[in-house]
Amino acid sequence: MTDMKWIAHAQDGQARAGILQTAHGDVPTPSFMPVGTVGTVKAMMAESVRATGAGIVLGNTYHLMLRPGAERVRKLGGLHRMMDWPGPILTDSGGFQVMSLGALRKLDEDGVTFNSHIDGSKHRLTPESSTDIQHALDATITMAFDECPALPATPEHLAQSMERSMRWAARSREAFVPRSGYGQFGIVQGGTEPELRVQSVKALMDIGFEGYAIGGLAVGEGQALMFQTLDVTAPRLPTDKSRYLMGVGTPDDMLGAVARGIDMFDCVMPTRAGRTARAYTERGTLNLRNARHAEDLRPISPTCPCPACTKHSRAYLHHLFRAGEILAPMLLTWHNLTYYQRLMQEMRAAIMGGTFEATAQKMRDDWGRGDWSLDEWPQPRLPPVP
Ligand SMILES: [Zn+2]
Repeated sequence: MTDMKWIAHAQDGQARAGILQTAHGDVPTPSFMPVGTVGTVKAMMAESVRATGAGIVLGNTYHLMLRPGAERVRKLGGLHRMMDWPGPILTDSGGFQVMSLGALRKLDEDGVTFNSHIDGSKHRLTPESSTDIQHALDATITMAFDECPALPATPEHLAQSMERSMRWAARSREAFVPRSGYGQFGIVQGGTEPELRVQSVKALMDIGFEGYAIGGLAVGEGQALMFQTLDVTAPRLPTDKSRYLMGVGTPDDMLGAVARGIDMFDCVMPTRAGRTARAYTERGTLNLRNARHAEDLRPISPTCPCPACTKHSRAYLHHLFRAGEILAPMLLTWHNLTYYQRLMQEMRAAIMGGTFEATAQKMRDDWGRGDWSLDEWPQPRLPPVP
């Protein structure tokens, strides 16, 4: 049996470039995973997701167990077959989503009982059942079941919560069925308490996983505290395993996290923004509903290879969003995911070339400069007619 492996290619400062080898293919890192909540990356065909350069996607245990149900996904050939994504899939454990149900859930030492947000029906997740469900989904990477406390929280509450998550991590590991090229990641918890993070890392390393995630961040603590927490956490993780920062983030968050030794990310931002007219570019974000784009024949970005940029103008996208056309979110999601993947590729190339810090500084400077002026980009072009 071949283990899931992460192999280092280069390191520049703390930033790492490598490759994650799985049963469903290799993923160069740093890597961004588009979020495919219910078995689809919203507004995208699987082949379009591939065309953006994505090598791995994320699925949500909570959503899929409720609809269509884990057993039905298994009968339909597993998540890869069902969504036409033969590449690697990471599934979350359901912990984060169940915890965010608030009054709809009840937590005990053994697990969580909750009511479905769809029909109110009662369900239960434990470390064992979450792991079983992720097996039924055929997740390439299974996540340990954890409790993700909302911040701010008292140190006492964070300590109890982290310790329970570590007991759950051991039970998740026990329930995990090793298969060639498949793996399971443990999740570091402990909020923004450095001591708790250190203890959590140690507890997970004693159990031993194919990769390590950092959870419980990007929940309202702010970027400075998130980076401080990464500073105490990431250097203590094994150097020969993947490190995944869950639920992050903005381009600037990811740049700072890669600088601190993180390899993998997931976030709804590029897809959600794609449905609300917000475009990510090398020069910051644009709101395509804004009237100033109404007659702008330029593409969103002069360098982007996506269909929104090579076939269409900002003016057309503006019109589609104003008219509420379904093509608008489709095109802009494609663009935003392409931007996120290019950002990963650029960071990877910079790490390989030993120029990460200079590249990161230039990216930040460019984001701060704002949209290209017509002077910088003097010749708006009419997109070619097919
Ligand atoms: Zn584009």
